[in-house]
Amino acid sequence: MEFQFTPEEEALRTAVREFIAEHVTPEVLSEQADEGDEVGPHTQAMLGKMVERGWVRLGMPKEYGGQGGDLTHQFIVDEEFNRAGVFVGHNYGTGYTTIIKHGTQEQKDYFIPRMIRGEVQLGLGYTEPGGGTDLAGLKSTAVRDGDEYVINGQKMYGGNASTTHMYILVRTDPDVPKHQGLSVFLVPMDAPGVTFRPLKMMKDRSRPYGYTGAWAGESFFEDVRVPLSARLGEEGQGWELATSGLAIDRIGVTRYLRCTYRTDHVIDFLKSESFGDYAPREDPVVRDKVAELWTEREVYRLMTMRSLQMVKRDIPIVHESPAEKVWGPDHNVRAIEAIAQILGPYTQLTEGERAPRGGEFGDHLLMAWFVGIGHGSVHAMRDQIARRGLGLPKGR
Ligand SMILES: Cc1cc2nc3c(=O)[nH]c(=O)nc-3n(C[C@H](O)[C@H](O)[C@H](O)COP(=O)(O)OP(=O)(O)OC[C@H]3O[C@@H](n4cnc5c(N)ncnc54)[C@H](O)[C@@H]3O)c2cc1C
Repeated sequence: MEFQFTPEEEALRTAVREFIAEHVTPEVLSEQADEGDEVGPHTQAMLGKMVERGWVRLGMPKEYGGQGGDLTHQFIVDEEFNRAGVFVGHNYGTGYTTIIKHGTQEQKDYFIPRMIRGEVQLGLGYTEPGGGTDLAGLKSTAVRDGDEYVINGQKMYGGNASTTHMYILVRTDPDVPKHQGLSVFLVPMDAPGVTFRPLKMMKDRSRPYGYTGAWAGESFFEDVRVPLSARLGEEGQGWELATSGLAIDRIGVTRYLRCTYRTDHVIDFLKSESFGDYAPREDPVVRDKVAELWTEREVYRLMTMRSLQMVKRDIPIVHESPAEKVWGPDHNVRAIEAIAQILGPYTQLTEGERAPRGGEFGDHLLMAWFVGIGHGSVHAMRDQIARRGLGLPKGR
């Protein structure tokens, strides 16, 4: 296996770095820190120039408004912008990949271009109040009635105030083994009988450096009628769609960047800050910790590049996906634990002149753990590695 970037890929990286040096101005960076749904005017102008170069929606299909480019190119563009403090990660998650693979032509034509343009925002409706890890035990139902299905149930955590459609997994056949009786539906949030209630997270959305989906919600479905065309894939194919989609959600450049930007900020801070006579960069214990974090970060990057190659070559991802889902989120937590050990209680300050990096680390303390819960907890992922990857029996 050739384990390096090609000259063409290296040339792209150089071009992206040159672009960043010219166009990622302090104004763009200040708009990035100002978290919100609106894209600021400087960022908008920069995005326009990225479009001219074909760097926006680079890996998405041309027929739906993308550039039809290579996913490694997408990785390079996303990684360089993230390194510069601008998050331009693209979501190739469950909805996008399963609609492309299993959707009817009508579903692809409707959803994919709108998802690419940001007009359709899919919320993931798997978890229910009774539990998330035991996904196949879910209780929500869809019952066929002529040319329609009638959906009833409740979903937890998925979606937020901008969600236009829920991608929900429900039971369509209670009389077969539980994994076989599930199906996926794409349900518009404005369908009669759907109610969405936002849940406020520990971290206040108005502060910078949070995960942009800092609001999650509950969705209630009461006798919601949808046409047959709202079903994605075949009836009973839901488990296959859910598991293959989750395998994709658990890997990839977006997750890698979300799990490593905190490490970069911690390392930058420790390299540059001093407190009176004490410069952390001169402290051997801190230096060891920084080296350790950097090494972990590089391992995670390699894991991401491996799974990227597997996706590109259509190689089934079995235990590699949970392994990446354990390593990245755990690393993310270790980075923030390291800074908490070094700075002590100051880490918890989210505002005021004594708050390090404008209170960023305080926000991280609240948010770093979340990445280890969504899309399957790190504990459940370890269980999957043990059983599917290593062939161990089911634990007691
Ligand atoms: C901020 C946030 C956003 C989320 N977004 C979404 C979303 O968009 N869509 C969606 O459907 N869900 C979403 N979730 C839900 C998330 O996927 C679930 O919380 C997660 O799967 C765990 O399910 P649970 O909370 O019901 O805990 P449970 O499944 O009840 O698990 C409880 C505890 O037991 C552990 N555990 C369970 N089974 C095992 C096992 N086999 N081996 C070892 N340990 C185990 C778990 O790690 C956990 O610590 C979100 C959650 C959060 C916090």
